[in-house]
Amino acid sequence: MGTTVVKLGSSIVADERGEVRGDVLASVCEQVVELHGAGHSVVLVTSGAIARGMRLMELPVRPTAMPHLQAASAVGQGKLYRHYDELLAARGVPSAQVLLTFFDMSARSHYLNARQTLRTLLDWRVTPVINENDTTATDEISFGDNDFLAAQVAILIDADLLLLLTDIDGLHTADPRHDASAPLVPEVRDFAEVEGLEIGVSTSPLGSGGMRSKVVAAQMATAAGIEAVIANGTQPGTVLSAVAGEPQGTRFHPQEQRVSSFKLWLRYAKASRGRIVVDGGAAAALRERGTSLLPVGVVDVHGDFQAGDAVQVAAAAGNGAVIGKGIVNYSAEELRRIKGMQSAEVRAVLPRASEEAVHRDYFVLAD
Ligand code: GLU
Repeated sequence: MGTTVVKLGSSIVADERGEVRGDVLASVCEQVVELHGAGHSVVLVTSGAIARGMRLMELPVRPTAMPHLQAASAVGQGKLYRHYDELLAARGVPSAQVLLTFFDMSARSHYLNARQTLRTLLDWRVTPVINENDTTATDEISFGDNDFLAAQVAILIDADLLLLLTDIDGLHTADPRHDASAPLVPEVRDFAEVEGLEIGVSTSPLGSGGMRSKVVAAQMATAAGIEAVIANGTQPGTVLSAVAGEPQGTRFHPQEQRVSSFKLWLRYAKASRGRIVVDGGAAAALRERGTSLLPVGVVDVHGDFQAGDAVQVAAAAGNGAVIGKGIVNYSAEELRRIKGMQSAEVRAVLPRASEEAVHRDYFVLAD
């Protein structure tokens, strides 16, 4: 029996006023129960905490300030989870609330912990109900609406299918919100087919995803050999039919060429917060030998970022051509203090610092 990750976007979890769409949740949970009864494992990834919190706090529009979004999520999360818990428990299926962050899971020890926990829950026949831990992480709030998190979860537990449920029928040849006649793309075997399409980035007033982040999430999953489907979760029977392999929404087939999902996330989903300018030696080492970036190669630091943020890495020569993007191990302020220093000098200034400014595993070259 297989394992499916079912992701529910804000637009189908909550209506325009932020009230839970009880009919949609009940229908999805009923299908989950049916799959469960047949021995299939399902992991739910749900958005909608912010939407729910907005309603409960009577906020008229989605806030823009990050602390307000995070606080709205904290208000909404418990109530959101309770809906799933009650719907599943009423049909005899126990559930567990799991709050994760994508970046957490890319750190090896956290990754292994998350995997063990999820595997144990599935062994116990408990359905995990996952959301991003919005109190500490802001990636999926900024862009993604849990699409990347769902892809990462699918990879983590080696799922057979990632099903991204939204309120439209799948990927169309143009954004159906602007062109109602644009036909549905039923299958994608090669992402080159998708490049020419006008993929909507428009989102519902409640969430932050849109079709683009779903397509990238599908790319992440299929790059790991997992099939992905984007389909309309407001229609009855969507989950069962997608799992059964029937024509449903847009089905993305596993790709032959594998790319790490972390690197896809870094390239497409993670916004850069600043820029590190490097000397010629470091530029060549990054481009040609795939090494890590050390503080000694850094000549300039732009912006105000924290350790763990994504930054652009650019060459001092050649009009500052961008070399790539990486997760930085220092804040901008620390990096300004240690730029140009050999590792031994760095340790004298910042004793607990890591050797690399950007580790090679957390770096992607620009296209
Ligand atoms: N984790 C967020 C939530 O559940 C993601 C949705 C969003 O981006 O609005 O509300």
